[in-house]
Amino acid sequence: MTAKHSGDNAFTATSLYGTSPEQLYAGALSFARRKYTRDLAGVDVAVSGVPLDTATSNRPGARFGPRAIRAASTNIAWTRQWPWEFDPFDRLAVIDYGDCAFDYGRPQQVPAEIEAHARTLLDAGVAMLTLGGDHFLTYPLLRAHAARHGPLSLVHFDAHSDTWSDEDGRIDHGTMFYHAAREGVVAPERSVQVGVRTANDDSHDFNVLDARQVHAAAPADIAAEIRQIVGDARVYLTFDIDCLDPAFAPGTGTPVCGGLSTAQALEIVRGLRGIDLVGMDLVEVAPAYDVGEITALAGATLAYEFLCLYAVARDGAVTP
Ligand code: MN
Ligand code: MN
Repeated sequence: MTAKHSGDNAFTATSLYGTSPEQLYAGALSFARRKYTRDLAGVDVAVSGVPLDTATSNRPGARFGPRAIRAASTNIAWTRQWPWEFDPFDRLAVIDYGDCAFDYGRPQQVPAEIEAHARTLLDAGVAMLTLGGDHFLTYPLLRAHAARHGPLSLVHFDAHSDTWSDEDGRIDHGTMFYHAAREGVVAPERSVQVGVRTANDDSHDFNVLDARQVHAAAPADIAAEIRQIVGDARVYLTFDIDCLDPAFAPGTGTPVCGGLSTAQALEIVRGLRGIDLVGMDLVEVAPAYDVGEITALAGATLAYEFLCLYAVARDGAVTP
């Protein structure tokens, strides 16, 4: 903004903390102007992208999601997240770790490569905020998180259950939570799916707050139900952007009408403060179908909220 700010915090940063005011429309892109680094010393949270979209059942393009979310995040990186009373970047050392590398020509190896990427971060004691990519990527991330934290409560925002059953070994963004539950990676009875509005005759013991239930209740009441279901269990938060209505998130591969507004989703997420959050992702942003960057901006804004929640989970008594 002024001469004292050199800009390009993504590579000029001398501290992992703080919000960097720089030109919103210029500069090297990183998520929220975080420093790009693979040095994990002193890092609390690593943001990374997983540009996978070959598990998509319908329209591809989520491989460009991490790039689009990083670009959209510059719109909101100049100040702390409203309405929180603290800046997560004052409390958490957050870096942009870049993207998970994998060989698209060897698709059966991709899950193991994503899991190894996660283990590199988690083994260093660093929490993950992952930007997708199609939703399949959450499956190897869950396996890595469960290896460290034990079976997880999944808080899952989505138009789809992603628990359709199939045989083992398929790489499909609609079936992975069926496998995660069967493997004991997640505990479905203390997990909850929010915003679902596609037919699946078997919930596989997941709690479901479907889209109609969400629309019929106040966001604070939905948040309270979620908190009651997960209790004090360790939580992995996964947000498929198609949980939002196509009016608010057209830039995604499998849009479904009747979804949440961005405001509803933000308010529910804010109401989750106090859950024992250990990992989070934001998936299925496909910018080729986006309009005016609204989907990518919603994704970036939600990802900011997750960092605020994580700061509360880690530090305890922080009053927003
Ligand atoms: Mn999904
Ligand atoms: Mn979905």
